[in-house]
Amino acid sequence: MKHLFRGGCHPPEKKEATKDLPLRPAKTPPFVAVSFSQHIGKPSAPMIKIGERVLRGQKIAESQGFVSAPAHASVSGIAKGVVQLRHPLGFLVDALKIENDGKDEWHPDAIAEHDVDKLAVEEIRKLVQNAGIVGMGGATFPTHVKLAPPKEKAVDVLILNGAECEPYLTSDDRLMTEHPEDILRGAVLFARAVGASRVVAGIENNKPRAQGAMRDAAAKLGLAQVEIRALPVMYPQGAEKQLINAILGRSVPSGGLPMDVGVLVHNMASVYAGYDACRFGHPLTERVVTVTGPGIRNPANLWVRIGTMASHLLEECGFDAAATKKLIVGGPMMGMPMRDLEWATSKGGNGILALTDPGAYVHRPCIRCARCVDACPMGLIPCALSNYGESGLLAESLEVNALDCIECGCCSYVCPSKRPIVQWVRMEKAEINRKRQLAAAAKK
Ligand code: SF4
Ligand code: SF4
Repeated sequence: MKHLFRGGCHPPEKKEATKDLPLRPAKTPPFVAVSFSQHIGKPSAPMIKIGERVLRGQKIAESQGFVSAPAHASVSGIAKGVVQLRHPLGFLVDALKIENDGKDEWHPDAIAEHDVDKLAVEEIRKLVQNAGIVGMGGATFPTHVKLAPPKEKAVDVLILNGAECEPYLTSDDRLMTEHPEDILRGAVLFARAVGASRVVAGIENNKPRAQGAMRDAAAKLGLAQVEIRALPVMYPQGAEKQLINAILGRSVPSGGLPMDVGVLVHNMASVYAGYDACRFGHPLTERVVTVTGPGIRNPANLWVRIGTMASHLLEECGFDAAATKKLIVGGPMMGMPMRDLEWATSKGGNGILALTDPGAYVHRPCIRCARCVDACPMGLIPCALSNYGESGLLAESLEVNALDCIECGCCSYVCPSKRPIVQWVRMEKAEINRKRQLAAAAKK
């Protein structure tokens, strides 16, 4: 089957180590450090006194504004203080350290059951907002914002993103295989919230069990409006614009949003968490994380409490620190390299990858072969972007549409000179946005 969007590449899938491993809970962490900055938008504001006992699901930080999300205690225990953690983008963020008392006692506000069939649209949005749910595929955009599109933007299709096209990662695959009914019940709620009459779950063909489980669940629940769409394997099919193009043939305009073409895309884990919030009142306190790579002796798909330190998970999975040359949060294509272990599992972190091959880090000058141009799914000129990025020429990078880059990494992957193109483009985008914010603040 031919793939249905422009460009792309086909990196080795490397999912063998974990695709057959059932989900299991990670070992109980002695403490968690829950960050106040786990989402796009303003960080949440702490609301707990140091020394106070908190319960699982208790709100520990309130959202600030509409584009923000609250944070919740992921274990019961004592709030020990605010610590600093490394954010995947390199800067430090504040987090509440909670010493785990091992009792796993839920807060009464976090266990309210609801009849989901009777929930009004506003109630669905409110429950999702209060649960602190964000895009759990890595985007971390607050989910409640996407559930409230402006009136003039009619949404007719909800797409469930089950592509999981990043090599190594299998967290969504296992979630779909083991919990398909709850995902689909969540999808029905999300579709109701935005007025979508169709739900299409896009799942790549390297996940046949997940495709089968989702199809069986849709039939069992009698969901005629749900279609499970098998997709050819191609990277970066899990990027929103490419997935919409592949499934519906609709093109999101440059600078536009999926709702501009009547579509809403949600990650499988976010939809699952949405059902948990609407049915049981549970805030987002845990997620599935794939821990894998050649530097991991016992790879696993783990249910992990938000705020669990990377060092705790790596120790459980047999981390070979001496052999590992690169540690990544997320997948090898779009994930972020981490320089130390001072970071914790966040809502958007679907994988931890330990790579041992140092060859990938030596880059050479561009030989103008144009392979990156052929591979770019956004129709950009990555070699020009990389040259401008390397030289700090921001105005020139804007002229060649740096801001349209979805940071998929296809260009870096196909480049014979192993140029870290996506890293340069990321820096360019961050710098352009920083300058724009400064200019806006100066104007005010
Ligand atoms: S320039 Fe951006 S969108 Fe194009 S291939 Fe590279 S990372 Fe992907
Ligand atoms: S693939 Fe690499 S070497 Fe070839 S044109 Fe692009 S940046 Fe240059």
